[in-house]
Amino acid sequence: MTLEKPVFSDVHRFDSSTGVRIYRIACDAFPGLVANIYLLLEATEPTLVDTGSGFGEANAQLLAGIDKVRTEFGEPIALADIKRIIITHGHIDHFGGLAALHRKVPQAEIAIHELDVRILTAYEERVAVAKKAFRHFLQQSGVRADMLPGFMDIYGFSKKNVHSLPVTRTLVDGQELDGLQFIHTPGHCPGQVCIGVGDVLLSADHILPEISPHQAPESIMPYTGLGHYFESLDKVGRMGGFDLALGGHQGPIKDVYKRIAEIRQSHRRKLEKILELIRRSPEPLTTNEISKQLYTHVKGFHILLALEEVAAHVEYLYQHGKLTIANLDEYQREENPPLRYAVA
Ligand SMILES: [Zn+2]
Ligand SMILES: [Zn+2]
Repeated sequence: MTLEKPVFSDVHRFDSSTGVRIYRIACDAFPGLVANIYLLLEATEPTLVDTGSGFGEANAQLLAGIDKVRTEFGEPIALADIKRIIITHGHIDHFGGLAALHRKVPQAEIAIHELDVRILTAYEERVAVAKKAFRHFLQQSGVRADMLPGFMDIYGFSKKNVHSLPVTRTLVDGQELDGLQFIHTPGHCPGQVCIGVGDVLLSADHILPEISPHQAPESIMPYTGLGHYFESLDKVGRMGGFDLALGGHQGPIKDVYKRIAEIRQSHRRKLEKILELIRRSPEPLTTNEISKQLYTHVKGFHILLALEEVAAHVEYLYQHGKLTIANLDEYQREENPPLRYAVA
């Protein structure tokens, strides 16, 4: 590929206790979002962890990043040497670049957790199923009928222009592969995996340094939801032995155990806040009404993210017996009315 102009590529090196050299290549995923791709050397085979979004200059930045690992860090590596591509989870900012990469290195094996396999191998089917579930969710959340088409357009935007790809290896929890240890951490995404590389944890979007990873309710997709997410935070917390975590976005996490506690605490606060809001409301509230009260200034795609985030918390409160459905009659009578919650 010839590049007409030099592209930005930000590369950092980290070393694991097992001698694996980990290069972080940061690429623009979408406007306002940078995604980290990791190149692992000395993990037997040159391995890429995630591929970026494939949007805009993301692919060019990835290639420039690999070049930089060779020219500035002195590693004898080129794109053609990549033997394995691991996708940490089936979100577009992590696998969107895979199609273009697969064309350039068709011999490289592609690995993803078994719960996200079909996002790669049967993308069109997954999108069709996800869209219907999402529409159902919007109605149940109390989004007005005339707003649905606009919301569905925004939801569908990031799901265009991706095609199905072959997966050559499916990952399962506890699996070891050439010194890489896979930890299934469902919650943010059903097939989310973290990867232990000696004392370094590649925490993907399970644990991030500055933002609390996005949550959606498992009513849209099984193996997501706050309950699974809390269990997965505990799982990593119990493991011990990680001195550094490197996430799918943003910088390194020096104390992953402290960060786990912070994230857990921020969700606990949000759960309390939502419960209090419903308690103080003179009328039962829909998820959409709660979201509008909590996130007053969000626009576009962020309205959907806010709604999913709130819904994950409302679902968790309901699952744990803190909320009741105040319009059960209507719910039984109508096809899919908005659910109105009151404190149980
Ligand atoms: Zn993600
Ligand atoms: Zn991400």
